[in-house]
Amino acid sequence: MSVSLGIPMVRGEDAGRRTPAVPRRKSRRIMVGSVPVGGDAPVSVQSMTTTLTADVNATLQQIAELTASGCQIVRVAVPSQDDAEALPQIARKSPIPVIADIHFQPKYVFAAIDAGCAAVRVNPGNIKKFDDKVGEIARAAQDAGVPIRIGVNAGSLDKRLLEKYGRATPEALVESALWECSLFEEHGFRDIKISVKHNDPVVMIEAYRQLAAACDYPLHLGVTEAGPAFQGTIKSAVAFGALLSQGIGDTIRVSLSAPPVEEVKVGTQILESLGLRERGLEIVSCPSCGRAQVDVYTLAEEVTAGLKDFPVPLRVAVMGCVVNGPGEAREADLGVASGNGKGQIFVKGEVVKTVPEAQIVETLIEEAMRIAEEMGIEIGEDGAASGPGAEVVVS
Ligand code: SF4
Repeated sequence: MSVSLGIPMVRGEDAGRRTPAVPRRKSRRIMVGSVPVGGDAPVSVQSMTTTLTADVNATLQQIAELTASGCQIVRVAVPSQDDAEALPQIARKSPIPVIADIHFQPKYVFAAIDAGCAAVRVNPGNIKKFDDKVGEIARAAQDAGVPIRIGVNAGSLDKRLLEKYGRATPEALVESALWECSLFEEHGFRDIKISVKHNDPVVMIEAYRQLAAACDYPLHLGVTEAGPAFQGTIKSAVAFGALLSQGIGDTIRVSLSAPPVEEVKVGTQILESLGLRERGLEIVSCPSCGRAQVDVYTLAEEVTAGLKDFPVPLRVAVMGCVVNGPGEAREADLGVASGNGKGQIFVKGEVVKTVPEAQIVETLIEEAMRIAEEMGIEIGEDGAASGPGAEVVVS
């Protein structure tokens, strides 16, 4: 798989077409298991399981599904002793690094480190009798090479800071995070990443901006309790987009009231939209209007379904008429402009054929396969890519 190195991908004929992003904020690099976070590492996508962690089989099954959808790091909640006892098996069998999410019991932090978890998340607002354990935790984490995420959450902000600021302001979130960092720093421990989550993207964006300016720790972006899929997707896209386009953010978790696989899909799409990850299939389809001579919505859906999981990055324009069709199709790898019951098929901006409307989807798929072939990529019946050009494949 070819992914960006944390900078916008500008490939082939796309060169010069995408707006260059600002440089990524310089953050220190930590390793969450095998996944680098921070520095110039690509922005990673993570999610969290919704199973009972103590149910090892169900948790591993969900981690497998998340991994298949592109999740790179997974977090599991550890609210009980049973969950803590499940960690060694989960950490050992998970194909991606596992972060233990600890809220109330410092003893589970040690259990997670001993279990081989790749990192531990602690919430300074929730964890009890935590401050006097920091030295011990820092030593254990240092010895095991396990980073700590200091995960501040607006809904569980330290009471002292709530009293000081009156509510979970950006300043309060940042102060809480930096205070907790300072406790670890006193023990020479800096293997830290931070999140300062809020359900309001405006507050969240400001909090991360302040935090980014105040430290060099890698930042885990999240809009907490973002809501059901539709609302949560928009909130996350707006907030992450604002921050990532300014170079802020090293790993992301989209929080949705939806199956976690959906979080990964949204997170991946956000990174692709920002040019921070190589795009897979990108459909450029028009919204349709009174000039449309084809059902654009259905056509776009059919093309999306027909090329789903196509392993080669492709930009495909699906346009309802010839007004804007040729222009968009010229910018795409592949395109169709429809009219009068026919579709003009474009490849790299040139009309290669005109086919009846009923053959548009199959023709686009054929042309997509041809493009792959020309790139030296062979696509097997199972959709897997091989051949000398396969290094550009998106998985
Ligand atoms: S491409 Fe044609 S049908 Fe689609 S929105 Fe533009 S003018 Fe309307």
